Parts: sequence; structure tokens; C-alpha cells
Amino acid sequence: MPMVLLNDGTRVPALGYGTGTIHREHDTTSTILSAISAGFTHLDGAQLYKNEEFLGAAIATCGRPRADLYITTKLNKLPEGQSVRGALEESLRKLRVDYVDMFLIHVPIFFADLKATWREMEGVKEAGLARTIGLSNFNATQLHTILEDAKVIPAVNQVEYHPYVYDTNKTLVAIHERHGIATAGYSGLATLTRFPDGPVDSALLAPIRRRLEKEAGAPVTEAQVLLLWHRAHGVIEITTSSKAERMQEYLDILRLPDLTSAEVKTIDDAGSTVHRRFFVSNLCSKASTRLMGLLSSARTGWMREQAISVAVGFVWAISRTAMTKASALYPDDDTNTCAGAR
Ligand code: NDP
Repeated sequence: MPMVLLNDGTRVPALGYGTGTIHREHDTTSTILSAISAGFTHLDGAQLYKNEEFLGAAIATCGRPRADLYITTKLNKLPEGQSVRGALEESLRKLRVDYVDMFLIHVPIFFADLKATWREMEGVKEAGLARTIGLSNFNATQLHTILEDAKVIPAVNQVEYHPYVYDTNKTLVAIHERHGIATAGYSGLATLTRFPDGPVDSALLAPIRRRLEKEAGAPVTEAQVLLLWHRAHGVIEITTSSKAERMQEYLDILRLPDLTSAEVKTIDDAGSTVHRRFFVSNLCSKASTRLMGLLSSARTGWMREQAISVAVGFVWAISRTAMTKASALYPDDDTNTCAGAR
């Protein structure tokens, strides 16, 4: 597995297996064991996923030495009175390890004082509980806040990264590059799985697939082309699957040639014609789904009127919360509206 050198001198496997999204709050032990058998060593967890104990069970039973595995977890919103160190120690108990390789602040808006939180992150690194510390979902403004006082420069910022946010991510990625911060990406297959009607479609990827198939002498999938696009951009890619054959498909990119610069540009250019960020638009769509549910359950005229007035208030409140969250997450992103997040 190719490794990416981080600004703290450590190395991280360039392709990671995620235990969030489809695996959240699930017993993922056997799936993670399959991922490790397939060849994944970089395992991306988080306190928020509420399944660290299953990741821990897989780590303990996989038969691989601890040093062969690269374990990440992420700091969730802290309950009143709990320290960053206390939260990490709880994770370490669940994960059944003495240290994590990478510890990230998961979502900046969960923390009122980012500088104070980062000082605590520096403390757990100093104590040897986390080899590498970094960030996730930080925008440029929040990143600058950390950089103002940081003794340890964050090694990584893990953000949504795929062709439909490639253009909007450019400013942030330029800041990463200036400070030696590696970009880690999640939802890298979103053009295929979450926004399949966009311009980075089968027709666009077909000639690239055919060229790769000819060179590799083996079938190449669209997901593999997208993972190669991430590799071309130097992104540490966090993907996932529930299926052993798909895990193998992802890992098989290690045997595939690189995309040419013209192929990379084709995907960059097509992706840049639209802006679709899943982890913002999802907040909006949840609000509309709740509204439709309320309306369809109201059958009589009076009930319908009551439901509409409750629903309008409800959606107003939810949308405001969603937009506030979206704007706080991505204030530099001027498409943070329900209409904008297409
Ligand atoms: P991806 O975009 O890589 O999507 C992976 C999903 O794509 C799998 O569920 C897989 O389904 C599906 N898939 C792959 N190929 C195809 C295909 N050809 N047709 C249909 N479906 C396909 O990543 P995710 O968005 O799931 O995120 C990956 C990980 O990143 C998470 O588990 C988590 O660890 C991390 N993450 C971090 C976040 C953060 O805030 N820091 C936010 C979101 C994710 P199947 O199971 O069927 O193979």
C-alpha cells in the first residue's frame, strides 16, 4: 500500500477503509475483518459512529500485530465536563489499543473554543495517546483559527472530496498545501453513488476506462477511475463497502496505471461545472422528507390545516438550523442554500 508522508514525519496508508456512513451504529466486526483480510490496514473510525467497540473487536481478533494497522478515530462533541483526553481514553478502551495513529476533531461547529480544543489535542499527542493529530470538516476560516496559535500544525484535514466539490475545495486545498497539511477525502464516489445524474457520468468515464483496461489487460470500473482521480490529486482517500468483492475492487487500483493529466483535467473540468455537496444538501432533504411525512398522514380538512401550520413552522425551524449548520461548516461556500445544494 502506498504511504503518504505527513508533516509530523509519520506515514499514513493512502487508501483507508471507513467505518462510518453505512456502518454507523452497526456491529461492523465481521465487515472490518473482511476489509483487513482483503488488504486494508488503514481503518477510519469516529466516536460519532457509535461502533468503536466493534472496530476494537476486529482489531483484537484479526491476527495482525497492532503496528501493522493504522487506526483513526475522531473527537465527537464533548459532554459537559469531559476533556479531550478523557474522551480519547474512552475510545482507546473501546478500540482495545494503547494509542491511535490519527485523532481528528470531527466537526468544528461542535466546539465553542477551537483554540482551546486544539491545545487539548496537542496534549494527547504529547502524552503519546495519538501519534498524529488533525482536523475534519474545517473550512478556511476555522483552519486559520487553529493555525494562529497552534504549536503542532494539523497533519490532515479530512473533508468531502469528489469532482462536484473539486472547484469549491480549491481555496481550502491551497491553504493545506501552504502549511503542509494533507488533504484526506471522504465520499469520493459521490458522483457515482449520490449524484449519478451529473456530468461526471458513465459516458464521460468510458474512454478513460477503456484506455486503462487496454493497458492493464483487465476490466476497470467507474469507481476505480474515480479512486485513481483522487490518487492523481494526492488525496488520502477514505472509502468503504459492505461487500468483499467491492473491497477488492477498490484495492485493485494499486495495480492500475495512473490517469494521464488530460484524463484528470477532463474529470476536473466536468466536475467543476456543477456544485453538489452531499453533507449539506442532506440536511435540507431530511427537512423536506419530514414535511411530506406529516402532510401525508393528515387526512381530513381540519387535520390537514393543523398539519400544514405545524409543518411550516417545523420546516422553517429545521431549515434555519440546517442552513446555520451548513453556513458554519462552509461559510466560504456561497451555494449553501437548499436550491444551491442541488
Ligand atoms: P464513498 O463515496 O467511497 O462511498 C462508499 C459507498 O459506495 C459504499 O457504501 C458502497 O456500497 C458504494 N458503492 C461503491 N461502488 C458502487 C457502485 N458501483 N454502485 C453502487 N454503490 C457503490 O464513501 P462514503 O461517503 O460512504 O464515506 C466513506 C467513509 O468516509 C465513511 O465510512 C467514513 O469513515 C468517512 N466519512 C467521514 C466523514 C467526516 O465527516 N469526516 C463524513 C462521511 C464519511 P456497498 O456497501 O454496496 O459496496
